[in-house]
Amino acid sequence: MRRPTPRSYDATLDLLADLVALLERDAGERSTVGIGMPGTISPATGLVKNANSTWLNGRTLLEDVTLRLGRRVRLANDANCFALSEATDGAGAGSPVVFGVIVGTGTGGGVVAHGRLLVGSNAVAGEWGHNPLPWPRDDERPGPACYCGKSGCIETFLSGSGLAADHRRVTDDTRTAEEIGSRAAAGDAPCSASLARHADRMARALASVINLLDPDVIVLGGGLSKLASLYYAIPPLLPSWVFSDRVDTRLVPPRWGDSSGVRGAAWLFGEDETA
Ligand SMILES: [Zn+2]
Repeated sequence: MRRPTPRSYDATLDLLADLVALLERDAGERSTVGIGMPGTISPATGLVKNANSTWLNGRTLLEDVTLRLGRRVRLANDANCFALSEATDGAGAGSPVVFGVIVGTGTGGGVVAHGRLLVGSNAVAGEWGHNPLPWPRDDERPGPACYCGKSGCIETFLSGSGLAADHRRVTDDTRTAEEIGSRAAAGDAPCSASLARHADRMARALASVINLLDPDVIVLGGGLSKLASLYYAIPPLLPSWVFSDRVDTRLVPPRWGDSSGVRGAAWLFGEDETA
């Protein structure tokens, strides 16, 4: 079931409760509830932080949904849920270390190692979208301003709006990321050049992840993961940036597409756990 996101905290709680009631009615039994969320719960304060659904920030979301639903609830960042879904029974199944990347409205990431989601002491493991773009070229410095307060963040180059903004800066042509992708596939030279710049930047950004984490598989998710060109453009670029004689890391599309986030939220509880 898909519902538009309400833009207030109380309406969000109401919608969550309604959805759980509807799904349980269909399932015919009391269920465990895992929730994928923007941002994360701060381990230090228990409050939501880093959510682009800003009305959640600073709120006691875990306590409030627990109370509202009358059971234990697990919450995790949506990119983490995506990585967990693809690592458990998706495109990264069977691989020891999986890096899941969401490239769409924003740019986020999650790490699953040996079947376990890596959360981290600040609950930001995998969040490399607000690191600076690695090995920047002169025309990439200082880079576009980011909502986080810095400039030149990876997200400002790799997200859908980042790709569209780069295309506009170079060509004066206003197109969405999706249009750039379809025109490039049809042979449009300026759009192909914009995709090539984007792939080159993503290669540098992923090479820095490989140098740090060395995952077996990188699974792309989010709107831009549908760009077929990424999967053949990026791998040949990686060896010039990765500190290794060769790069065997696989770069793959998601098995579960748009549904991977909610599937990963469900996987926050194991098959043998009950509500
Ligand atoms: Zn940023």
